[in-house]
Amino acid sequence: MFTLCFDPSAIPAPEDYCLIYNEKNDLLLGDGTRVPTIAETRASTFPVQLLISEQRRRGAADRALFLGNFGMGNAWLAGSGDLGGEQDFHGSAYAWVPLRSHLSEQTPDWKELAFRGLHLFHWLKRVAYCASCGGPLVMAEREMAQACPTCHGVWYPLISPAMIVAVTRNGGREILLAQGKNRSQDWYSLIAGFCEAGESVERTVVREVREEVGIAIKNLRYASSQGWPFSQSMMLGFTAEWDSGELRPDPNELDNAAWFSVDDLPFVPPPPSIANQLISLVVAQAKHG
Ligand SMILES: [Zn+2]
Repeated sequence: MFTLCFDPSAIPAPEDYCLIYNEKNDLLLGDGTRVPTIAETRASTFPVQLLISEQRRRGAADRALFLGNFGMGNAWLAGSGDLGGEQDFHGSAYAWVPLRSHLSEQTPDWKELAFRGLHLFHWLKRVAYCASCGGPLVMAEREMAQACPTCHGVWYPLISPAMIVAVTRNGGREILLAQGKNRSQDWYSLIAGFCEAGESVERTVVREVREEVGIAIKNLRYASSQGWPFSQSMMLGFTAEWDSGELRPDPNELDNAAWFSVDDLPFVPPPPSIANQLISLVVAQAKHG
């Protein structure tokens, strides 16, 4: 079982796993599938030089971060000062693999741990200096945060709350799907958007659906959530039913939006996305009542 923990006194052991990411959300894997161990990263044949420090209390940029234990062993995030390379390692057993394709065959525990690692990787790459006084930050002693030794400010990982909703009509037999302007693939997905400052997530759902497709919804129900490191967000997943209005997709946000029969869905985002989980939930409910 995956235990999320923060232990600043932990020291990387040779058999522990080491997660190494780049800015394109790739993971460095051996033979296309295997997460390297700390011992492997120290071998002369390893293609990137890492600073897996055994010293405590160093700056965020040059020490490995303990991510947790997921049952098979401990996992570490390589020090962010070493990361960001996108070069190919020709003639090596190691290669960058898109995190999403790596995760399609993995356990939920491993998925959560790998998402946690990527989220913290992006945070440490972007937040290295104190936003109050400009001084360099170091990892905090007792929690997952960076601390400013100069002004004693504490800076936590940035997590943006966002919502995603599966809207249905006709007794759950039809689902609203849309093609976003900035979609990474040619798929149809659910309506989603970030919470505004001071806004409840329930209001975000109602507002985003009205803004993006022009309809009103009812019977809003919370379903599940998922940390989503690709946009540094926490996706809160809902289901809702159509209440009134005709679909009018906002051309600034969407290329297309339509009602689809749950028996005849277009290409939708694959697992492990929460969009896929919510769509699957709607389909299962339509089939089994
Ligand atoms: Zn400061």
